Formats: sequence, C-alpha cells, structure tokens
Amino acid sequence: MQTTLVEMGASKKLALVAHDNRKPDLLAWADKQKAALSEHQLYATGTTGHMLSRQLGLPVHSLLSGPMGGDQQLGARIAEGEIDLLIFFWDPLDAQPHDPDVKALLRIAAVWNIPVACNEASADFIFGSGYLNQPYQRRVPDYSDYLQKRT
Ligand code: PGA
Repeated sequence: MQTTLVEMGASKKLALVAHDNRKPDLLAWADKQKAALSEHQLYATGTTGHMLSRQLGLPVHSLLSGPMGGDQQLGARIAEGEIDLLIFFWDPLDAQPHDPDVKALLRIAAVWNIPVACNEASADFIFGSGYLNQPYQRRVPDYSDYLQKRT
C-alpha cells in the first residue's frame, strides 16, 4: 500500500476515553498530567469528557457517550485526521455492550498510525516523550492513487 506523511503540530488533538471501571484511574492520571493536558485540545466520549472537564476545569470537546456511538465518532475523526493521539483506558476484565465499537476504535487507530495508550504506564510513556510537544510526521495510508483510478 502507498503511504504518505502527515504532519502533527506541536499542539495535538487528544482523545480520552475510559470504561466505567477505569474512569477513576483516568481521572487520577489526568489530574497528574493536568499541566501537560492544558497545552492540547481535548476530545472525549460523553461521560468521560464531562467528568474530565468538571475535574480539570479545562475545555473538553465531549462527543456522545461510548455505548451511544461516541467511540465510533472518535474513530471517524481519527480517519479524517482530526485526532492525533488516543488515551483509552479500556476495561480488560469486563465485557462491554459496545465491544464491537471498542474493537473498531482500536483498529482504526492502528490503521492511521496514531499513538495509543491503553493503560496508565503507556500514557505516562507518551506524555514523557519529547514528541508530545513537538511536530511529528506520521506515516499514513495514501489512497489518492486508488481514488484517481476510480474517477
Ligand atoms: P463514556 O464512554 O465516556 O460515555 O462512558 C466510554 C466508553 O464506554 O466507550
């Protein structure tokens, strides 16, 4: 497959999601990283976003709740290049009614090569990386040839 490079700016668009059992952990992590988070634009699924904005006092663009389609909304934004990084504290010990959406979100994040943290340690490693506040060129699928052949 053809690929191309997409520039991520120094200020990133971050998506944050936590399943119910993981929300306390995400809120505690976000508190610890509040100064770093404030440098970026924040997006989240509905309940996670409302809890984060209340706790941090930062603007969070909250989409629909996950089970109501919020994970799919985030996936669409990733595919459209509108989200640079995903922090997703998903629950490995409980089934979710929207498991297919969770799988789809993780899959589309891999397709579009955005950094993903599924637990606190990974999130700390990403936030400890120099790339968080620097521009970064990310390799993504390039469908322009394919689309041209169809027209
Ligand atoms: P919520 O959705 O933030 O609305 O709880 C998260 C999820 O379960 O995907």
